[in-house]
Amino acid sequence: MQPFTYVRAANQDDAIAIVTREPGAMFIAGGTNMLDLMKEGVHAPDRLVDIRKLSATEVVTRNDGGIRIGATARNSDVAYHSLICDRYPVLSEAILAGASAQLRNMATVGGNLMQRTRCSYFHDTAFACNKRQPGSGCAALNGFNRIHAILGGSDRCIATHPSDMCVALAALDAVVQTRSTRGERSIPIADFHLLPGDTPHLETVLEHDEIITAVDLPALPFAWRSHYLKVRDRASYAFALVSAAVVLEIEGEVINNARVALGGVGTKPWRSPEAEQVLVGARANEETFARASDAATQAASPRRHNHFKVELAKQTLQDALKTVAAMERGQL
Ligand code: SF4
Repeated sequence: MQPFTYVRAANQDDAIAIVTREPGAMFIAGGTNMLDLMKEGVHAPDRLVDIRKLSATEVVTRNDGGIRIGATARNSDVAYHSLICDRYPVLSEAILAGASAQLRNMATVGGNLMQRTRCSYFHDTAFACNKRQPGSGCAALNGFNRIHAILGGSDRCIATHPSDMCVALAALDAVVQTRSTRGERSIPIADFHLLPGDTPHLETVLEHDEIITAVDLPALPFAWRSHYLKVRDRASYAFALVSAAVVLEIEGEVINNARVALGGVGTKPWRSPEAEQVLVGARANEETFARASDAATQAASPRRHNHFKVELAKQTLQDALKTVAAMERGQL
């Protein structure tokens, strides 16, 4: 690991000032992803600026009825918070489906948004990787690409986004609040993560010296009826092969509102307006759910080793939709 210095800034302004003037400085919060990347030689900061104690850690109700989650709230605290469990169970389930209890106790909400891919070629500096070293190539394109993306890839990168939490945030239309020397920004989650295109090393719209201060969830009265379903190679502490976050508002048997996002299949948390278009106004039954899952995967472009993800994504989404419909009928 490259030598580095560590500083705990006195406040947000100091932290931002240090990183603004030092191109080699990086923010650190929980560090659960950052330290791995430093040990692997993927990240080599000159200085780490600890911001863990500089942002809010609370989950509070906003005046408009929505929720604000402090950027340095621990993943475990968010997952078990009564406001999240009662009003946005899809988010609680997604966080609890990720990592181990020990990691969730260290990891922060802001850090979770900034997680980097688990593409094994990205983590192994012996291989070509456009994301780690722009222009060097992509070992995954013709390599073992079983865990890679079937949606949103380019001929430069097909790495999946690793976060479970972000898939739920995508379904809930979360808004990321940030701060830098240029002021504050509110960034809808759909715009926060970038598709790889020709620049896979750029993963978010966050600037080098910009910190995440909070994540807002809109008031979504029907979000109490929601579910996150994750399919993985082993029962715990594994990244998603496929996951689905579903929020439905059903009246009688008709779906009035639908939010659908997929994980493990896209190069960013994958909201599916195509599936939602099929669902809204349709009857909540298996035929509708099958059509929605077809729509969600219609643009899929699988690679040599991950064709199975197309059918797995369809089945996972259908199962998640059935579960939420069963909640509506009082069957769960
Ligand atoms: Fe790197 Fe992306 Fe290719 Fe993986 S898929 S090797 S992260 S460029």
